[in-house]
Amino acid sequence: MQISGRNAIVTGASRGIGRATALRLASLGANIAVIYSGNEAAAAETVEKCIGLGVKAKAYRCDVSSAEETKNAVQEIRKDFGSVEILVNNAGITKDGLIAFMKEEDFDRVIDVNLKGAFNMIRNTAALMLRSKCGRIVNISSVSGIMGNAGQANYSASKAGVIGLTKSVARELASKGITCNAVAPGFIETDMTRDIPAEDNPLLSSIPLGHMGKAEDVADAVAFLVSSDYITGEILKVDGGIAM
Ligand code: NAD
Repeated sequence: MQISGRNAIVTGASRGIGRATALRLASLGANIAVIYSGNEAAAAETVEKCIGLGVKAKAYRCDVSSAEETKNAVQEIRKDFGSVEILVNNAGITKDGLIAFMKEEDFDRVIDVNLKGAFNMIRNTAALMLRSKCGRIVNISSVSGIMGNAGQANYSASKAGVIGLTKSVARELASKGITCNAVAPGFIETDMTRDIPAEDNPLLSSIPLGHMGKAEDVADAVAFLVSSDYITGEILKVDGGIAM
């Protein structure tokens, strides 16, 4: 699909992988609706950078775990942009803990943001994509959802759920010209991973390519999946080889 001139929603685009993805799609000519949860100044900075690349962009405050807020945000975006052809479900959180001590609210919140958030956004944008007779949905999963990870039962379950969601939506919408794929990053340098110690860390030394990835590496994979007309239901790992 030609990306230039399309309208894209990127959730959690105020920083990290979401911001890099918004800028990558903007650099390819897509107009960008930036969904952010709290940091208005950071979201405004993403918007400014997108506009600097010559496209239209606007920020919308929205907690993706809320059915009502996502519905309102998508309605606003439709009013402002007219249509939506690209959705990147990137917003995500961690609340790590060992299973025996994991609080119920920490399990629920991670599932609500990471999995139900993607569901909410897909549900609200699918009708718009059906109207455009074309759509590209890319969900950000994780290698943690493929391999599991000690201390991340809630996060791994949410990201494995995103993989199931991706494949079902891919099958359901394929005949309508809408693809749905996921990107599964490994360790990427963002705020989410800033507390991982760099020195003598067995996690990092287990990466075959020998170093963490950058947000732009994930953004490249998202742009590739958005541009493809014949890939759907795929889970593309961007992990330096961890989960091969
Ligand atoms: P980050 O913490 O820098 O960014 C997460 C973004 O999601 C932020 O902009 C945050 O405001 C937004 N967000 C959080 N809760 C939200 C909510 N309820 N509603 C709307 N927005 C919300 O992290 P990141 O590393 O850029 O992560 C982006 C995505 O990539 C996440 O889904 C994460 O799980 C996934 N991921 C990251 C890594 C990594 O190593 N960094 C690895 C695998 C997967």
